[in-house]
Amino acid sequence: MLNENDLHRYARQIIIQNFDEEGQEKILKTKCLIVGAGGLGCPVALYAAAAGFGHIEIYDEDLIETTNLNRQIAHQNKDIGLNKAENLAEKCLSINPDIYLKPHKKNFDKSTNINSFDLVFDCSDNAGTKYLLNYLCHSFKKILISGSAVQMEGQFSVWKSGVNKNLPCYECVFPKTKETAPITNCREAGIIGPITGLIGCMQVNEAIKEIALKEYASMAGYLFLYDGLLQNLDKIKLSKKDNCLVCST
Ligand SMILES: [Zn+2]
Repeated sequence: MLNENDLHRYARQIIIQNFDEEGQEKILKTKCLIVGAGGLGCPVALYAAAAGFGHIEIYDEDLIETTNLNRQIAHQNKDIGLNKAENLAEKCLSINPDIYLKPHKKNFDKSTNINSFDLVFDCSDNAGTKYLLNYLCHSFKKILISGSAVQMEGQFSVWKSGVNKNLPCYECVFPKTKETAPITNCREAGIIGPITGLIGCMQVNEAIKEIALKEYASMAGYLFLYDGLLQNLDKIKLSKKDNCLVCST
């Protein structure tokens, strides 16, 4: 049962069709892991906190720099030099003091007990972390909502290969190769702030649907590609790879 305070705080989303008080209770009970407190991690954490995800842990070892501020929207000029995970957790709590926030001043690695979470947001900017998160989320049957953004383009997906064996995993679609990947980091390729904001918001929108709604169309098994120059959002149906090293066994 929601208390008076919760009924008031979440009043505008509880009235959404298929959401109800039950949906809010589920959100409050959900344990979220957010990997990365940068361009994607900031909007993801702020909106997840505002929606009332009741337990949020954030991993990032980086310190806030001036060049982050065009997009990492929770970090302000006065915060330069502070740890990103700690600062983001503080900003989330200033929006919603009723939830539990735990920042980790280190990068996510395989020592993190992913089994203690219900939902994982991949807001990282490197391939190694994305493959590791995919492997762990598949193995422990967790919902993984990943995002990435570079220049004026972004993409996001919901991965549930551990929950439903007919669904593809990240590695089915993006198999590891020995070839040198094209430059996709923001430092070298550039990034427009609103792109990370949009993709991060879409990640939380999918999380709210997966957790709270009684009836909804899951977007697991699709890849969404957003082009900020042409204002296109492509929805691509993904298929499972027969010999995927992660999910086919
Ligand atoms: Zn796979």
